[in-house]
Amino acid sequence: MSFSRLYTSLASGLGVSRRIQGLKKSIWSQTWLQTDSGVADLGQGFPDTEVPSLITEALVKTASVNWMNQYTRGAGHPSLVKALSLVYGKVYGRPVDPLKEILVTVGGSGSLFSAMQALVEEGDEVIIIEPFFDSYVPMVRMAGGKPVLIPLRPKSGQRTTSSADWFLDPEELASKFNSKTKAILINTPHNPIGKVFTKDELQMIADLCVKHDTLCFSDEVYEWMVYRGQQHHKIATFPGMWDRTITIGSAGKTFSITGWRLGWSIGPEHLIKHLETVVQHVLVSCPTPLQEALAEALLRYYELMGQPECFFKAMANELQGKRDRMAAMLQTAGLFPVIPEGGLFIMADVSALSKDLPRGNDGKDESYDYKFAKWMIQEKKLLGIPVTAFAREDSTSAFDKYIRFCFFKRDDTLDAAERILKKWKSTRSNA
Ligand code: PMP
Ligand code: GLN
Repeated sequence: MSFSRLYTSLASGLGVSRRIQGLKKSIWSQTWLQTDSGVADLGQGFPDTEVPSLITEALVKTASVNWMNQYTRGAGHPSLVKALSLVYGKVYGRPVDPLKEILVTVGGSGSLFSAMQALVEEGDEVIIIEPFFDSYVPMVRMAGGKPVLIPLRPKSGQRTTSSADWFLDPEELASKFNSKTKAILINTPHNPIGKVFTKDELQMIADLCVKHDTLCFSDEVYEWMVYRGQQHHKIATFPGMWDRTITIGSAGKTFSITGWRLGWSIGPEHLIKHLETVVQHVLVSCPTPLQEALAEALLRYYELMGQPECFFKAMANELQGKRDRMAAMLQTAGLFPVIPEGGLFIMADVSALSKDLPRGNDGKDESYDYKFAKWMIQEKKLLGIPVTAFAREDSTSAFDKYIRFCFFKRDDTLDAAERILKKWKSTRSNA
């Protein structure tokens, strides 16, 4: 076939669907992130810490039970939805029906995807808060919806030092709601800023959802990672919100098992049943042995909930130490961290280092933070994520001075990063 014939047929019959036309590949698949072992990797959000042995031992045990290696219930393995209903019954302060109000999915991502596919119509608007986890916009677009973005804005006139310095303008938010709005997608604790939305902020969002009769997709995959002085609030528990909210959770971040790809949606039966339809036809079911092992571990953790040795509390305490260490390391090197109230990322303003890598037009069509992150790997052997990866193309200038670092890492990984940052500082002071 000649090239021109091939081109014509691609453009007509064999081309890409409209649903994904123009969507770029995810940042996580870009080759410059695939680093060698000499690089201190504080990039993608996964822990390199030990997986709790309770969990790995449970998996070895379940995989050796013959029937456990077959299909299971499509909406979630019975023992896992039961365990989740116990844990979340305590968290919500209301019973959560394991068979009707919980859906197990491939990661939190699977929950987001099935919610969009099940509930967003062609032409519906979905409000997304910027910066945002990079898959939100593609997921809305793949469902035929229109993403409507609203930025978190830094308090004016000052360099932000805390994630609490970032806020939604109430009037601006209200202006985004209209008769086409199907849902708002929120994320607390927030990736990449680390903001934990306050009760008042969530109330403002809830009031708008009720007023305009919209859904709310509440991405709470970092719900257990909340630091001293802060409290995680579930918007689904606000008056009038349970019936219109899908809350998304993830086993990956919570138990340091991002590779298990398990997550869940919690919500009212009249919404969850539609997400179930998507999951049944796309996935059939999630892996049985993994679900059984997770259920066993969750039950053990459930017994300790509320006690000092509670896993979730212990993890947040450990992470708080890592967060504080990371913030101090960044400060020492002359970067300006935005201290997160939750989550496992810390953003740093790298403007003070523009002597190392001047801004300017070097002919490459790339934002400054991408250039900086790539330069930092090459020259410093340190990996962080450019924050404009979480923003739309025409608003990159609001975020292109920030690099995001993941601090849920072993001490020796953080030691390596610290050595790099100290050396970086000393080379600059000697320059
Ligand atoms: N939401 C946010 C905000 C995330 O950062 C991530 C990545 N963990 C996800 C959803 C997806 O989680 P999972 O890995 O469980 O699919
Ligand atoms: N949530 C992770 C992050 O923000 C990455 C998830 C993914 O690889 N899709 O780093």
